[in-house]
Amino acid sequence: MRIIVQKFGGTSVASPEKRAMVLGKIEKAREQGFYPVVVVSAMGRKGEPYATDTLLGLTKSVYKNIAVRELDQIMYCGEIISAVVMTATLQNAGLEAVMLTGGQAGIITDDNFTSARILKVDPTRLITLLKMRKVPIVCGFQGMTADGEFTTLGRGGSDTTASALGAALNAELVEIYTDVDGIMTADPRIVNNAKILDCISYGEVCQLAHQGAKVIHPRAVEIAMQKNIPLVVKSTFSDTPGTLITNIAKEDTRGNAVADRVATGVTYVNGLAQIKIEIVTDQSYNASSKVFRAMADAGISVDLINVHPGQIMFTVSEEIAEKAGTRIQDLGYKAGILYNCAKVSVVGGGMREVPGVMATFVEALSANNITILQTVDSHTSISVLIHKEDVEDAVTALHAKFGLDS
Ligand code: ADP
Ligand code: MG
Repeated sequence: MRIIVQKFGGTSVASPEKRAMVLGKIEKAREQGFYPVVVVSAMGRKGEPYATDTLLGLTKSVYKNIAVRELDQIMYCGEIISAVVMTATLQNAGLEAVMLTGGQAGIITDDNFTSARILKVDPTRLITLLKMRKVPIVCGFQGMTADGEFTTLGRGGSDTTASALGAALNAELVEIYTDVDGIMTADPRIVNNAKILDCISYGEVCQLAHQGAKVIHPRAVEIAMQKNIPLVVKSTFSDTPGTLITNIAKEDTRGNAVADRVATGVTYVNGLAQIKIEIVTDQSYNASSKVFRAMADAGISVDLINVHPGQIMFTVSEEIAEKAGTRIQDLGYKAGILYNCAKVSVVGGGMREVPGVMATFVEALSANNITILQTVDSHTSISVLIHKEDVEDAVTALHAKFGLDS
């Protein structure tokens, strides 16, 4: 049985015309001999009636601190509505479609409400449906604990659902359908001449996603990578081939071996705060261990960490900066907090050991009078912290400087 998982994001299922295009993609897969398993997200984006954010707003306007268990119950509704409407669309076209919640599709998670982790997937029910030539329409973003509690997988979780089902079913391919033609060299909302990447490695796309490219969830990539299942990111609204994500180090259309690309893409993350702590030099070893332990105990995740004798710097997301500052004060240190920061990164699987990458990066920013607050690099990425108002200029400048415009 040639199984394909086809995931359709929120904008792909938002109107009858768009759902007709989704139907077309499912029918085409069947014509090609595939047995599709369909995963859908909630319909539309913020402001639209059945979008996840709208449902959240409904509840949070009543009580801002509603318990996370109940938040998951209301967030469950978005995908249920979407999946039922999509099932009706298929049934209307004469296909035998069956709607399943995440739990009904066999996705078992831990009980970490609002960002649950998949523990295992039991594909028995899906396989039974496929053998009967039925089309399962699975609610993305959802799971169920072993004792039957509804859970959700966090933002972008429908991608994870698709990969997890693909892995459990040993699918030939997982397709992530969205509103852009594939993974691009930068967010097309910022760089209008961003280019589609025709192929990319799991590692690079994980880096892009972790560094802010919201086009696919990094967890989805990790799950597919473990079982070496190819992922394709493509548009619901066109017939272009999209971006193939695999392990294979082949060449892209510009003749560059994927593994050798110095720069694959430019990404950004907004909403960060920089925390700076001055320490008396001879206490610094002890101080950093106390500070990072306190952050961990408070469940605060930290990024862009620079530890020097006399100074500790890192970033946290803006909403929890105040809480982080308080914890540091409780330790007896003084923390300066700089709000309205953003992280901009260049990612490239072939960046390692290429001299001059940092110089190129810094030149691009200084030519545009952009202040660098902090830097951090790895084998496959360079990131800087800058002021939020510089993000668009920085992304555009780096995109051009690293040759991604052409
Ligand atoms: P969906 O609802 O289909 O899951 P998302 O909004 O999660 O869609 O992801 C698609 C969006 O990701 C695009 O509309 C695009 O603006 C944004 N995006 C950010 N970075 C990139 C990138 N590097 N390549 C493509 N799209 C990107
Ligand atoms: Mg998404």
